[in-house]
Amino acid sequence: MTLVLPETQEVVTDIFRQHNAIIETGHFALPSGKHCGSWVSSAPINARVGLLSIFGQMIADSFRKDNIELIVAIAIAGIPLAHHIAYHLNQTAPPLIIFAEEVHRLDRKAFAFIREYEKLIPGKRTLIADDIINLGTSMKTIVQMVQKKEGIVCGVTCMCHRGTITAEELGVPKLHYLSYLPVETWEPFLTGNCPLCKNRVDIDQQNPRSIEFVKRFGQPNAWHSQI
Ligand SMILES: [Zn+2]
Repeated sequence: MTLVLPETQEVVTDIFRQHNAIIETGHFALPSGKHCGSWVSSAPINARVGLLSIFGQMIADSFRKDNIELIVAIAIAGIPLAHHIAYHLNQTAPPLIIFAEEVHRLDRKAFAFIREYEKLIPGKRTLIADDIINLGTSMKTIVQMVQKKEGIVCGVTCMCHRGTITAEELGVPKLHYLSYLPVETWEPFLTGNCPLCKNRVDIDQQNPRSIEFVKRFGQPNAWHSQI
């Protein structure tokens, strides 16, 4: 089941716009390695506790009947939201909160539960929270990690869904999001199908992945034709 309420989506998207969280045009690298031409940043929302509280309550209301015992946040940007969801789910006996963080393994990106966190997972009714879902690659990895540790994944949630991945594809009963702002994505470099790379448009260094991309490969206008 995939959930999005049109009236909620409109209100949340307006809040994103009011706080300049949506950059309509640009050239960005996503965690999956693909490129896109617009960006939604959770930073202006994560900086405002009042907005996070409202969003946390909206999400908590959607999972109130699921008896959530554990929230897994995807570090770093999903952590503040997870705390507000937990608080609004149950102020006297809130669910536990842990987080999965990105680690480097043999030059590839992976996630891990460090510090004793994974011992809290087995048998728990779990909600997984992130700020933004783009292609859903990271979310799918975390769902599988929780299931492998015998957690019962009741659903996943985010403030903004930008891709096409569904609850079924994630392997969860419920995919919940507060706003839906789909984005087209492309393979990078002059050899890929990214029109912005082909036109040698500078990468906007708005997010860690774009900064990393430029550090590693430079800006498109400096590329040789074989890239
Ligand atoms: Zn590109």
